[in-house]
Amino acid sequence: MRIMEDIVENIAHVRAEIGRAAARRGRDPGEITLIAVTKNVLVDKINAAVEAGITDIGENRVQEALQKQKEVVGPVKWHFIGHLQRNKVKDSLTNFALFHSLDRIALAREIQKRAEQKGVVVPCLVQVNVAGEESKFGLPPGELEAFLRQVAVLNNIKVCGLMTIAPYYNDPEAARPVFRRLRELFEQENYPAGVSMRYLSMGMSNDYTVAVEEGANMVRIGTAIFGKRKY
Ligand SMILES: *Cc1c(COP(=O)(O)O)cnc(C)c1O
Repeated sequence: MRIMEDIVENIAHVRAEIGRAAARRGRDPGEITLIAVTKNVLVDKINAAVEAGITDIGENRVQEALQKQKEVVGPVKWHFIGHLQRNKVKDSLTNFALFHSLDRIALAREIQKRAEQKGVVVPCLVQVNVAGEESKFGLPPGELEAFLRQVAVLNNIKVCGLMTIAPYYNDPEAARPVFRRLRELFEQENYPAGVSMRYLSMGMSNDYTVAVEEGANMVRIGTAIFGKRKY
């Protein structure tokens, strides 16, 4: 089926682009995780991507993800990349390898409470709204440090990096300052004990090569793999 071949080709193309962007900065492409974003993508296509070597999948809705987890074959890591509502925390905690979108203290407290009950430690990235867009979630960069101090005392949350969604620009070069700013925050050294800055999740279909040049080690790609989403 043509669509499945397209997916395989698209993944190869994206990987090659990641490789070239990494090479431009003397980076090892092996340290960059390609997360295939499968929101609104049917399970057959997701399975085709997994067969083509995809190991990491990103979803932005809990219910949709839990349903797909039953049907996607093969060992994959699931990433939660959407806005997480507090009432969804309970059902999702142990179903994702990484939450990319910790963005407010009320959510952190809910995760802490549920994680403590279950006896698990939940790996999270903090979402930063670098460009200050009204329409996007995430902490203003200036609030990050104080937020990390508050979260650092919650023993069942492990902060292990930062995530951002850059504004959509026709010219992805325009997103470069956004990615650079997140990388600077990522590299700061005065964060509280317990915070380990390991993952830098930035870059989507339109701008991932710029994000990789600026240091991303996780990119979240939907359209460039699966084609335009129909809503
Ligand atoms: C949808 C989505 C993506 C993927 O977007 P594409 O432009 O289709 O690559 C990445 N990150 C988040 C948080 C998303 O919601």
